[in-house]
Order: sequence, then C-alpha cells, then structure tokens
Amino acid sequence: MTAHPFLDGTVKPLFIDGQWRPARSGDSFESIDPSTGHVLTRVARGDAADIDDAVAAARRAFDSEWQSWKPFDRQALMLDVAAAIDRRFEDLARLESMDMGAPLARTLSFRRWIQQTFRYYAAQALSIRGDVLSNSAPGDYLSYSLKLPLGVVGAIIPWNGPLITQLWSICPVLATGCTLVLKPAEEAPLSTLMMAEILHEAGVPKGVINVVPGPGPTAGAALAAHRDVDKIAFTGSTLTGRKIIEASATNMKRVAVELGGKSPDIVFADADLELAARGAAMACFNNSGQVCYAGTRLFVERSIYADFVEKVAEVGRSLKVGPSLDPQTQLGPLASSMQLEKVTGYFDIARADGARIVSGGERLGGDLADGFFVSPTVLADVDNSMRVAREEIFGPVIAAIPFDSEAEVVAMANDTTYGLGSGIWTQNLGRAHRVARSLRAGMTWTNCYAVTDPGVTMTGARQSGYGVKGGPWHLDEYLLNKTVWMNIAGE
Ligand code: ADP
Repeated sequence: MTAHPFLDGTVKPLFIDGQWRPARSGDSFESIDPSTGHVLTRVARGDAADIDDAVAAARRAFDSEWQSWKPFDRQALMLDVAAAIDRRFEDLARLESMDMGAPLARTLSFRRWIQQTFRYYAAQALSIRGDVLSNSAPGDYLSYSLKLPLGVVGAIIPWNGPLITQLWSICPVLATGCTLVLKPAEEAPLSTLMMAEILHEAGVPKGVINVVPGPGPTAGAALAAHRDVDKIAFTGSTLTGRKIIEASATNMKRVAVELGGKSPDIVFADADLELAARGAAMACFNNSGQVCYAGTRLFVERSIYADFVEKVAEVGRSLKVGPSLDPQTQLGPLASSMQLEKVTGYFDIARADGARIVSGGERLGGDLADGFFVSPTVLADVDNSMRVAREEIFGPVIAAIPFDSEAEVVAMANDTTYGLGSGIWTQNLGRAHRVARSLRAGMTWTNCYAVTDPGVTMTGARQSGYGVKGGPWHLDEYLLNKTVWMNIAGE
C-alpha cells in the first residue's frame, strides 16, 4: 500500500462541530485507489442522523459570534487558510491523486488556482455592499438594502475533482459569514477530510465547516431535504440534480446546480489546425474525460474531417496513460470500477450504432490491468442522434461529427438537452463572435478550451443547471438581499 501521512490505518472519521467522530451507525466504507484497485483506507459512512448533527452544528455556529466577525477578520482568516493549504499542498495533491486517480502533474498544477481562488474570495469579503434605493412612496421614507449571510449551506459534490470543487462552497461561505455542511462523493472523500483538518488548524471556528462523507441516497438526500438548510450548492449529474431540486421544496431552500454536459467543440476549416487538434483532444481527454464541461462532441468541417480526426486521434495515442502517482503520467485511470464499466459499455454501444473507432476503445491491460484504465478514444462517422453523441459518457471519448455549413453546425451543436461548455476554432473573427452568441451554453471558449479563473463566472444553461461559480456574482447566491424601510418623516 502507498504511504501517506493522512492515511494512518484508522477509519477516517466525520468532521462535525470542530470534532472528529465516527458515524452514529458505526458504519464505514472503503476508499479505493483507482490506479491499483487497492483499498486506501476506510471512511466513516455518514447518514441522515449525522447530517442532522452537522446541520445543528452549522446552525449553532451561524448563530454564534461568527456573525460578529468583521469583513477584515474573515479576509484575514481566508488568507491564513490559503497559507496553511500551501504548506501542506503536496500532501493534499497526492491524496487527491491517490483517491480519484488524476495524475499528480494535474493535481499539483492546482496550487496556483487554489491560492488565487482564496485570495479572490478574500478580497470579495471586503466588498459586500447594499444600496440606497430611491422611492416615491407617499410620505418620507429612506429605503435601503442590506446583504446578509444566507445561513446554513449544504454542498454536495462529485468525485471528479473534489480538491477544487469544494472551494466553490468553502470560499463563498467564509467570505460571507455563512456556515457549511459539505458532503463529498463516496468515491473520493479524502481531500475534503484533509481540507477540514487544515481549515480547523488555520482557525476556522467550530461548526463553520463540517464534512460528512456518505452515500448520496441517504446522507446526500437528507441534506438536500433538510428543513434547516437555507441553500444547497450541488455539482453532479443531471439525474441527481433533478432530485435535489425536488427535495429542496421541503423548505423552499435556495438551489444552485451545476450538472452534466455534452459540450460541442466546433472546428472550422480555416482554424489553426495544429492548435485546434491539440486543443480539441485535451478539451475531452483532460482528467480522463471526467469533466462536466468536457468537449465531447467534436464537430469538424467536412473538407478537413478525415485528416483532422486522425490528428486528434494521434494526440490521444501520444498521451501517456498510467498510475496517478507516476510523474510521467498524463492521463490517469477512471475514478471507479463503476465508471470503468460505464465507459467500456459505451465502446460497445458505439460499435453497435455504427460509429468507427479510430483510436482507443479498450480497457488497458498489462501493468495497468488491476486499475480502471481506458485508452483515449476517438469515434468517427458519428451522427448527432447516436447515443454516444447524446449521452454523457464521462470518459476520454470524443465523438467526431462532420458538418457542411455554419448554420447546420450551430443547429446540431444546440440539438442537445445540455448547455454547459462549448468551443469554436476559427480565424474568422465575425464567425467566432456570431457562433459564440448562438450557442445555447453557459460558456464558450474560442481558440482555446476549459480556461478558467476564479474571477470569471462559470455557469450552465438548460439541463446543465443554473447558478454561477466564480466571478463577481457568486457571492450574491450566499447572501440575503434584504430591504429596510425607515419612516423619517418629521412632525
Ligand atoms: P455520479 O453519477 O457521477 O456519481 P451523482 O450526481 O450521482 O454523480 O453524484 C454527485 C454527488 O451527489 C455525490 O456526492 C453523490 O453522493 C450525491 N448524490 C447521489 N444521489 C443523491 C441523492 N439522491 N440526493 C442527494 N445527493 C445525491
């Protein structure tokens, strides 16, 4: 077994009210290293009773002196947390790689992003402000708005990148003065537990951040339906997102959902084809395709289709697939055996539906046979109505579809229930802007893909969800925009 200072052979407990404790049921589950199939550790299995405890702790913390922390205090705390993360960053990145399979090169590269995210939100903590609103009501009234922390937030996150996904709730919670119950996915709970330890040691008051790993249908569902939770921030599949929205009706809590995608990436014949081939390949292959806005439907103008698809396949073939801790690895395993089964199932579906496998399309054996590895895959001769072009696979699988005109490709790109990412590769400026405006997606990248920054909003459209992450409006989702009327009429 690979050693790690956070993995001491004991069952990793829940973190509630500033304390480490077992699940009330006493149950635990295995956390598996997807590179080897071996058990990394056991983790306490939280369920509804533990969620109740965590929400109660978060409520007590919300009603405590946490409310009297000034913006400067919260900012200072966030900067202390950022420094504490940096001190233990290599261990944190390694733990994430071991738990969910992303190559160390990838998780280590998050260092800058994490620091910038904390700093960005720490800066925002100082600029929360209401407005004085003019009114024409008869009499003499002063009316103004106050931005107040919303309350107890529940965050439910997936397994494809918890190290960074957790920051989308931790940072706004700390910046606004809310409190949090965070439920990571069972497949990859470890980096959130280690983060809880770091937050605690850096001085985050007890109960402000609680972490309860556990199954979605019990722990997750209890959090989503909880009557004392004021907001749920969910990242995950569209299917589960719908359940979260339904569960939120118990107390009309606020909801933000970032869901699945089947994002189009469009390559016109006039593009810089070298740049586009590498860009289009990595738009999907990064993180072994386990990215919600991965560019999985590759639309290529027919005049360059055959050559370009081959170029993309060549990029795929050149990538080094291997164990997550090998410094040479560019693509790690899929995160779980379930994911492996799902992705290899789509190879069969692709063949049966008449797609042609240009590269990849298989589980990897040899030294990698014990892990959950597949090769980067390019499917050609795909029709936009095939299952591989409509369903989210969440693996390194590109479905390449030819097109003849701008109007046709925009219509095909928008012919999906999703609307998260999208990409355009062209040197024609007018076309780039025109197509960017026409794509029904929350984000469009032009001559690049998947560039992100904490200061720039990420959002979805249609069944990819609603709510924003990052950028200047994210904190509004953690604030009550309250109105105050003052009668200031004289005698
Ligand atoms: P995936 O199928 O890719 O694992 P999910 O949307 O099921 O994606 O999982 C994302 C997160 O949602 C995980 O933390 C999971 O435990 C949680 N989850 C799954 N089902 C439910 C549910 N019914 N209610 C609340 N959370 C859930």
